[in-house]
Amino acid sequence: MSERPKVFGNLVAEVIRKNTCVTCGGCEAVCPVNTVKIEDGTPKLVGLCISCQLCYWNCPVASFDVTEMEEKVFGRIRTEDEAAIGVHKAIYAVKAKDAEILGKAQDGGAVSAILTQFLSGAGDGAVVAGVEDDRPWAAKPIVVTSKEGILEGAGTKYTNSPSLVGVASAIQEYALRKIALVGTPCQMKGIRNIETGPLSDERIKDAVALRIGVFCMETFDYPSFMEYLEGEGIDAAKVDKFEIKSGKFIALQNGEEIHNVKLATVKSLVRACCHTCGDFSAEFSDLSVGNVGSPNGWSTVIVRTDVGEEALGAAEKAGLIEIHPIDDGKRGLGLVNKLATMKRNNAEEAHVES
Ligand SMILES: Cc1cc2nc3c(=O)[nH]c(=O)nc-3n(C[C@H](O)[C@H](O)[C@H](O)COP(=O)(O)OP(=O)(O)OC[C@H]3O[C@@H](n4cnc5c(N)ncnc54)[C@H](O)[C@@H]3O)c2cc1C
Repeated sequence: MSERPKVFGNLVAEVIRKNTCVTCGGCEAVCPVNTVKIEDGTPKLVGLCISCQLCYWNCPVASFDVTEMEEKVFGRIRTEDEAAIGVHKAIYAVKAKDAEILGKAQDGGAVSAILTQFLSGAGDGAVVAGVEDDRPWAAKPIVVTSKEGILEGAGTKYTNSPSLVGVASAIQEYALRKIALVGTPCQMKGIRNIETGPLSDERIKDAVALRIGVFCMETFDYPSFMEYLEGEGIDAAKVDKFEIKSGKFIALQNGEEIHNVKLATVKSLVRACCHTCGDFSAEFSDLSVGNVGSPNGWSTVIVRTDVGEEALGAAEKAGLIEIHPIDDGKRGLGLVNKLATMKRNNAEEAHVES
């Protein structure tokens, strides 16, 4: 930590004005006087700052050292073989067995099935991403305590949810004490900072028991996304699923494909902050889940910690999922490594240019 205090003004200068704020919600979650609020996708000061420095030192963009965090979380740094996707113990292809979960899930329903087991075991809640009532496909954190709640959040929203605000809400407003967090790679970094950083938040550290990260190449800027859909004659409110797969961006309505374009067509919708993020596979989660690397309708699951191994094992033991070894060829693990390397290289280039 520096000698001079690093306060909200430093976050503004070093992160927000540089368009690298990922809007994970960590700054709002840790502010002890509720003075930092996410408004229109940006952290703002809405009252008097007490210069506690929590927002700065818990920000995953302003303050994050990969090597230091690997030592803290995994007790070791990544090996050469793990250069692309970070420290891990195993990788599998996973599919939920429950038809209701499969009907709502984005891919193999691994995330929702593992959460279901978590809630029927020791967990008392989870923070997932729902959507805002009046803005279709605008992700927002929701706190859930049942399978119905998990299913409400199932499926991918390609917009940002400030999910760490949901963690604070789960603790303060729902009095939950053992929660799971689902989030993008930047949100996994944010939660680890809050749990282990120089100014960690003990309430959050004690309550978060499982961290499930989703693979993420990018998120879309909400206004640009809606403008694009409108321009294409698509009513966002009627779309039941968006997919990014095999280099295509796809929209489905009533189960039918209504839009299918090359991913390059929608690249201009990507939020600026995603260009400087080099983490594809949610390297600091307990379990990372994506579709790349597994057959259609299956999820690829990277097990990184004992906590993750236990959660996955419990879901299998309960008969909620089936697990197979991941294909270690070009279309399996090779593709996960390739995309992770590509994202890291792109981010390094973007840093050099900025
Ligand atoms: C923005 C984004 C980009 C992605 N990009 C890729 C990619 O490039 N390649 C790839 O292989 N996989 C990507 N994924 C992951 C993939 O879309 C699925 O989430 C993953 O395969 C898990 O599927 P599932 O069926 O197991 O999950 P489900 O059982 O459907 O559960 C998905 C969980 O993710 C949560 N979630 C959804 N949207 C968000 C969000 N915006 N922020 C935080 N949590 C959210 C849901 O609330 C739910 O709990 C991306 C996910 C997101 C959110």
